[in-house]
Order: sequence, then structure tokens, then C-alpha cells
Amino acid sequence: MEQYINELYGYEQDEDLKRVIASIASNNMPQISVPPSYGRLLTVLTKTAGVKRALEIGALGGYSGICIARGLGDDGTLLSLELKDDFAQIAKENIDAAGLGHKVSYRIGDAKATLQQLIAERVQFDLFFIDADKGGYPFYLECALQLASPGALIVADNTLQKGKIADESIQSPSVLAMRAFNRTIAEHPRLDSTMLPAFDGLAIARVKV
Ligand code: SAH
Ligand code: MG
Repeated sequence: MEQYINELYGYEQDEDLKRVIASIASNNMPQISVPPSYGRLLTVLTKTAGVKRALEIGALGGYSGICIARGLGDDGTLLSLELKDDFAQIAKENIDAAGLGHKVSYRIGDAKATLQQLIAERVQFDLFFIDADKGGYPFYLECALQLASPGALIVADNTLQKGKIADESIQSPSVLAMRAFNRTIAEHPRLDSTMLPAFDGLAIARVKV
């Protein structure tokens, strides 16, 4: 079905996204970009919500960054947080090559520190894409709630941890953190949310106005 959908949407003809995948391979980076369907969902959500300022946590090779930037209008911007300098450089090259470089900026370093700076700067964002170290998700959600404009969307990848999330015999720190994150997303009084079970799970929440 995944192959059917990729063919339907002409994935093989998407040179900008294929360039990302090829550059990840040639630089020996992990091949863990969002799947194409979730990438397109990021574009649709960004457009539908009329996002002006987006924040991504975890850039890798710029795949999800391209998908978010594609959904932004002329006055929309994306700030991408990435731990590794060399990854951010590759993401930037790929986003420039896709013709979207004017919309995207980067802050390098541990996102936990950058998010605290952003909170101190009192900036707001209309869409968050959380996709970095899984142990950090509960803190990233807490920060997103502080940085959210009314009605902001919070999207998070890999919420099912390849099924480990539902196996109570697994008690590793990252799985425990993701269980806490998922429960908060599901129960938080300021959020309306859902979770998509395809691929590795995607949480989508909207901060109440
Ligand atoms: N969102 C990307 C994939 C991100 S993979 C896409 O779909 O295209 C996870 C990324 O998070 C990696 O690039 C990794 O270096 C970065 N990362 C891991 N820990 C981090 C941290 N503490 N702060 C910022 N980035 C981090
Ligand atoms: Mg991911």
C-alpha cells in the first residue's frame, strides 16, 4: 500500500526529496526521515493552519523541513533545531537546493537549551514538529505548550516506538519517556489530539484557543 501511495503521488519524480535521501546515504547519516505520506501531511497541515512561524526539533537531512517549508506562505518561516552542526549543514544545502532556503533558519546545539532561549525571547510558533531524541519528548512538549500561539499545532513522530510502546515488559528510558509524552498528549486539558498508527506513529495535537 505504501508503494501504491508513493506511485500515486509521483514520489519517484520528487527530485528535492530524493536528493535528501541520497545525501543522507552518501554522508552515512541514519536513514530516518519521515515517511513520504507523513511529509505530505506536514505540508497539508502547515497550509491548512496558515502557519506563519514553524519550529522543527530534529533536522537530519532536511526532509521534514522541506515538507513544512512547502506548506508555508510567502511570509512564513521555519526555525529548525539540530544538535549536529554537520547535519544542519546538509539539511541547509538540501533546503537551498529545493529553492526554500529563504524561509528556513537553523539553531545548532541541544534543542533543550535552544528551547529555553526561545521561551526567554518570548517568541511564538504556530506549528511544532517534534522529531529528535525520544527521551526529550516530554520536555519538548512542555516547551511547545509555552511557545504555542493560540490554535497552534503540535506534531510528533515515532510515538509508537516500533510497537515497544505497548509492550509493558519494555521499560527503557526512551520508551518510558514516550509513554509519558503520549499520555500527556492524550489527556492534556489544553490540547485536542489524535494519533495516527501508520509507520512509527504520529501524534497531532491542537492547542486550544
Ligand atoms: N525530522 C527529520 C528527522 C530527524 S532525525 C526528518 O524527518 O527529515 C532526528 C534528528 O534529531 C537527528 O538529526 C539528530 O541529530 C537530532 N537530535 C538528536 N538529539 C537532539 C537534541 N538533543 N537536540 C537537537 N537535535 C537533536
Ligand atoms: Mg522520526
